[in-house]
Amino acid sequence: MKHWKKLSHSEQDKIITSALQKNINYQDFIPLGIPVSKLDPYVFSEQASFLKDAPLLRTYIQNPNHIGCHTLGESEPFFAGTQQLEREVIELLSVDVFNAEDGSCDGYIATGGTEANIQAAWIYRNYFMQEFDASLQEIALLSSADTHYSVYKAANLLSIRSISVDVDNTTRCIVPHLLNDDIIQAKGEGIKYFIVIANLATTMFGSVDDPNLYAELLERNGVQYKIHIDGAFGGFIYPISNPDNNCNFSNKAVSSITLDAHKMLQAPYGTGILIIRKGLMQFACTKEAKYVNGMDTTLSGSRSGANAVAVWMILFTYGPHGWFEKINKLLYRTQWLCSQLDSKNITYFRHPNMNIISISANYISSALASKYGLVPDTHTERTHWYKIVVMDHVEIDYLQKFIKELP
Ligand SMILES: *Cc1c(COP(=O)(O)O)cnc(C)c1O
Repeated sequence: MKHWKKLSHSEQDKIITSALQKNINYQDFIPLGIPVSKLDPYVFSEQASFLKDAPLLRTYIQNPNHIGCHTLGESEPFFAGTQQLEREVIELLSVDVFNAEDGSCDGYIATGGTEANIQAAWIYRNYFMQEFDASLQEIALLSSADTHYSVYKAANLLSIRSISVDVDNTTRCIVPHLLNDDIIQAKGEGIKYFIVIANLATTMFGSVDDPNLYAELLERNGVQYKIHIDGAFGGFIYPISNPDNNCNFSNKAVSSITLDAHKMLQAPYGTGILIIRKGLMQFACTKEAKYVNGMDTTLSGSRSGANAVAVWMILFTYGPHGWFEKINKLLYRTQWLCSQLDSKNITYFRHPNMNIISISANYISSALASKYGLVPDTHTERTHWYKIVVMDHVEIDYLQKFIKELP
């Protein structure tokens, strides 16, 4: 680990306080030209006594705007202090969690996994259009049938086709010959450029796609491609539970990764993360964003710097070992639940490195599902699977009650 370590609350407080001091101080400097300000002091008092020990809440009150991307080019100088903490989060995750070379990635904190996925697809669509003179009709988004629906939003917004590859019903793995058939068919229909969204754990099953399978078959078919990893669900779990994997920047085929701090990291909503190899963010540069210093290469526009500070605090409160222990506790509970299901001969899917269990709907009445808040694979058609996500609050004592109610 080069950057990730554990810091005490008071060490964190010192760093955040100093970062806030490097941001604009409205007592000394009144900016006339930009519409920035603290939270309305009439509503959100700066004087509340609990703020003294709460650096994140102090950040919320100062309300830094992290508009733009801070790992490349210039940024708004008014919020330089907290932008630095965001840069640290991006560098820590890219190097210590996703095996990138030092300083080789850009990134920013997006509103969520949806935005990070759309941003990646947007960048690659523009890349193919600008570098290869591709037309919209020649570009497609390629992903598995278990992929998150944000990919279809991206295809719709970007006016490109989406291609969904079937997975095996039992293993939830992409079926190689079907993928190959889909590529050949798309090629026959004029697609020359593929934007792949590979899952680093699907939302419903926790299944993981092999990016090298995509790379191999796309290369065999002689087409251009870029691979984005959607780690919105698994990005803070899988690299820890299975460190020798190919879903990171040590794999040349991987260009970018989405993470969601507001899922397993329990950060405030609005903390999706995009990490991308340097040289690519520029393809989403909006040159008309002239009033923003350094322009804007992000989809968001204005966004809260407090979200970056929240992610920074979570990472440095746990440190790598604390996080490892937490993930392993969740995996232990998941394993416990699997062995209970095994002993009852109940059909389920679980990826061995993930904390999601999808149980065949044959064993679960809809009453039981609603009593325990299980999530069905579909709300509109016949349910095949109900999933359980083993999180911090899902304790074995509670799982035991659930198990007793199963046939
Ligand atoms: C949750 C999720 C998303 C979307 O994330 P939001 O933060 O809800 O926008 C995308 N992909 C996967 C795999 C997810 O689990």
